[in-house]
Amino acid sequence: MSESNIDIELSYLRKKIDREKDARKQAEVLLENKSTELFDINQRLQEANQQLDVIVTRRTKALKATAERVEITSDELQNTVNRLSLVLDVANAVTWLFNVRHQTMDIAGKSQSLLGIEPTKAIPADDILSRIHKDDQVQLTEELGFALKEGKAISLRCRVMSRNGSYRWFLINGELSSFGAKRSLCVIGSCIEMHEQVEREREVWRMANHDALTGLPNRNHFETQFNALAGESFVSGEGFTLALIDINDFTQINDTYGHRTGDGVLQDFADILRGYSDHATHIARLSGDEYIVVFKNNIATWSAHELCQKLIDECATMSIQDGERLGLSLTMGLAVFPKDGGTMDDLMQSVYSAVQVGKQKKHIGSSCVLYNSSIERERFRERDIRSALKAAIEHQSFDLAFQPIMCNQSRYFVGCEALFRWPDMGGQWDIQEVIDVAENSGLILDLGEQVIDMAFSKLSHLSDMGVKKWVAINISPLQFQFQDVPHIISKALIKYNVDPAMLVVEVTENIFLENITRVAAVLGQLTKMGVRVAIDDFGSGYSSLRYVQSLPLDKIKIDKAFIDNVGSSAESQGIVNAVINMSHSMNYKVVAEGVETEEQLTALKEMGCDFIQGYLFSKPLSFDELIKLDDFSASAPLVLKTHLGRTL
Ligand code: C2E
Ligand code: CA
Ligand code: CA
Repeated sequence: MSESNIDIELSYLRKKIDREKDARKQAEVLLENKSTELFDINQRLQEANQQLDVIVTRRTKALKATAERVEITSDELQNTVNRLSLVLDVANAVTWLFNVRHQTMDIAGKSQSLLGIEPTKAIPADDILSRIHKDDQVQLTEELGFALKEGKAISLRCRVMSRNGSYRWFLINGELSSFGAKRSLCVIGSCIEMHEQVEREREVWRMANHDALTGLPNRNHFETQFNALAGESFVSGEGFTLALIDINDFTQINDTYGHRTGDGVLQDFADILRGYSDHATHIARLSGDEYIVVFKNNIATWSAHELCQKLIDECATMSIQDGERLGLSLTMGLAVFPKDGGTMDDLMQSVYSAVQVGKQKKHIGSSCVLYNSSIERERFRERDIRSALKAAIEHQSFDLAFQPIMCNQSRYFVGCEALFRWPDMGGQWDIQEVIDVAENSGLILDLGEQVIDMAFSKLSHLSDMGVKKWVAINISPLQFQFQDVPHIISKALIKYNVDPAMLVVEVTENIFLENITRVAAVLGQLTKMGVRVAIDDFGSGYSSLRYVQSLPLDKIKIDKAFIDNVGSSAESQGIVNAVINMSHSMNYKVVAEGVETEEQLTALKEMGCDFIQGYLFSKPLSFDELIKLDDFSASAPLVLKTHLGRTL
């Protein structure tokens, strides 16, 4: 090899070495860079690892906690399931699920012991429905329908056939839900046995709504029945006829035969009414002797009237328990819904008005009156009087008229009767009518107190004038029944400082319809106070000779109806004569009312009647007119002697 070749070779090698050196340097720099990068990566990896560790630890912890909770929850769930099945057992309950799509039922719980059905799935729903009492089926299917359509919860009591084939009460609850993976529509619920509780409640309800003696629905229950009936009637457009039955003089049956027999009569009567069940939708007992029959709406009013007549005939031959014939007399009123009243109050008012009309014909025994337009007019008339009277009582816009009473022997006026007058009344009503309305409505109580006060004020006026004439005031039986009449009168005696002997209290025979012992005691109190008592309208009402004898009376006033025929009818004359003799034998004086003719006066004088009151001598006068009469002047004789020699 030549030198130049060697040099070339050498230079080449050197260059190669240099290149390699450079390359190595670059590689070293690269390596250094890479190792720094690697270090960084390593560093980050380490950090990430640490974070992962933290997360893993945390997650592990959380998972552990969740696992524990799941364990607890599943225990609780198991407990709940156990408790639930225990509750179902204790509560005698069955659970059910109605599969809407398949129309089947799943039954679980105590179905075997309660219903005699094994807990089972997918029984046709109709099989279950057929075990529900037929009266409850409609309501149950309706409630199921509501649950499905409107999502309403079901809750109803119904009778379900039990294991032994009898129906028992269950409470059925349920609500719309879904089940299974497909979330199929269902109604799910429970069926809880509550037979004893429902039966107890029904018994309490029965007692509260039925009359204990006859077992018939009472007024309270009838009101509910009526409202339901009225509602149905409005929907169907068909009316119905209602009868109110009042047993006449039932207190007399009690008084004569005793309460035990009275109760038996009412029970028998209720049984007779039940015999009309084929024609009636409702039969009820409203009060002691008042009953209601509602006739089926396909029964025409005239047939209802015929049925009432049949009932009247049946009761007329009724006998009491030991076979004695009793013959119950009835007053019946009939009215038609809604023609004669669209509410219970209105319809009842109509039948009461019809009964009232029947009562006025009481002397003919039983009666059955159909409400009609003239009764309606009468009712409106009564209503008008009542409201006008009420206002007049508030404004005290009354007056009194005074009708002088003549001593038959001396021919002097010895006293007068104070008669209620109502100046604003006009000519449309008469006093008797107004008094009757006042009595029927109870307004007579307030009115009577005002009359007493006015009469006393006039009495004190007379006494201030030095006139010693008695004033008679009319006291209604209702006042005796509901007010302490002796107390009211003694207060007035003190207030007006008048002599009690100048007061006569007139009472009608009707007060004897009340408790006679009490009546005697009250009249005794009045007599003790020095007030005198007269029996008014004697002979027109309740025949009471045996009571009259035992009472502390001063006068008997013979009713105008008997006086009218004195002098023309031997029979009337005979009666009047007998009453005068009887009264005198009991030391009572006699006043003849409504004397209009000289013939009557002559006859009465011959019979020894003590006092005469009537148009023959004077009509009722205003107080001013009264005191202008000679006898009512201060100079008139103060003390008169009767033919019996008693001081008046
Ligand atoms: P009464 O107590 O029998 O009163 C007598 C009635 O007969 C009075 O009618 C009187 O005007 C009338 N009268 C008297 N003499 C004759 C006569 O000769 N012929 C005729 N045709 N009638 C005669 P009045 O004032 O219309 O009273 C009617 C009834 O109203 C009274 O009958 C009485 O029951 C009642 N009444 C009047 N005022 C009161 C009162 O303040 N309280 C109570 N509770 N009732 C009263
Ligand atoms: Ca009178
Ligand atoms: Ca009278």
